[in-house]
Amino acid sequence: MDRWLEQADLPARVNTLSAVECGEECLPLYCFETGSTKPDAPVVIFTGGVHGVERIGTQVILSFMNTIFNRMDWDESLHSLLKDVRLLFVPLVNPVGMLKRTRSNGNGVDLMRNAPIEAMGKVPFLLGGQRMSSHIPWYRGRKGDPMQRESAALLQLVENVVADSRFVISLDCHSGFGHQDQVWFPYAFTPDPFDDIGEMFALRLLFRRTHPTFSFYLIEPQSRNYTTHGDLWDYVYRETLHKRKGTYLPLTLEMGSWLWVKKNPLQLFNALGVFNPVLPHRHERVLRRHQCLMEFLIRATASYKNWLPHPVDRREWMHQAIEYWY
Ligand SMILES: [Zn+2]
Repeated sequence: MDRWLEQADLPARVNTLSAVECGEECLPLYCFETGSTKPDAPVVIFTGGVHGVERIGTQVILSFMNTIFNRMDWDESLHSLLKDVRLLFVPLVNPVGMLKRTRSNGNGVDLMRNAPIEAMGKVPFLLGGQRMSSHIPWYRGRKGDPMQRESAALLQLVENVVADSRFVISLDCHSGFGHQDQVWFPYAFTPDPFDDIGEMFALRLLFRRTHPTFSFYLIEPQSRNYTTHGDLWDYVYRETLHKRKGTYLPLTLEMGSWLWVKKNPLQLFNALGVFNPVLPHRHERVLRRHQCLMEFLIRATASYKNWLPHPVDRREWMHQAIEYWY
């Protein structure tokens, strides 16, 4: 990121969303912004590094940014695409966690369990979020405390965007759960469907139809895997529900890291091996594997008017989605 920031002709505007203390230092949360400056333009937000040990999420985003920035030098079709859509990249949401090699942030809080939202019904022990100790993973923070600075910065960013834009997608890149790459959408706190479920079903159909050979992504609500307290994207989605102009689909890419461990069990002895591909060829494969999905999300967002369910048909789409997923 620093290398890009030094460039005089960086094809992006850079904002510092927030900064977090780490010893004597202050580490910034950078947001790189490119594409349309029209306030109501549709927006894609790419985020990564919410969990400090999941370095691959940040690397996937940096690698994709590299592709986009380099194409800007020569690819006229990209310039014409970016007239219709704005891209926001926050590659590293939890810089202290990544520096210290911890899942949590500098205060020992898991940013994915920190939002003020309680799960309905039982959650898995510890994994679903706990308030016992910051020395145990999945710590939610003290009850009643304000949200951590990193989570609050993301909420603020989405709030600003959805207030003007008619269509917004966010993709938050994680790793460490399952044998398969999964694309999750809300909710995590309840097994009930979220309001934009019909639109989500339409996006899934569009992707399946356009890229049938990318069938390795399992696309489903997070609650089908497990429910949690304090999910950041549940909270961001619900907080912005009545403040926004149009559709907002918060997606999480959960890269199936158990597959990398299965193929190379020795990496269990590497501190970060449970969450990241270790062998160079596999690392490179993961970096390129998700570029098609990210490119698809940009194109689907730029042309959302051509596939998003018409308000008249919304109920029918919701019905189909509920039949399929619930
Ligand atoms: Zn994660």
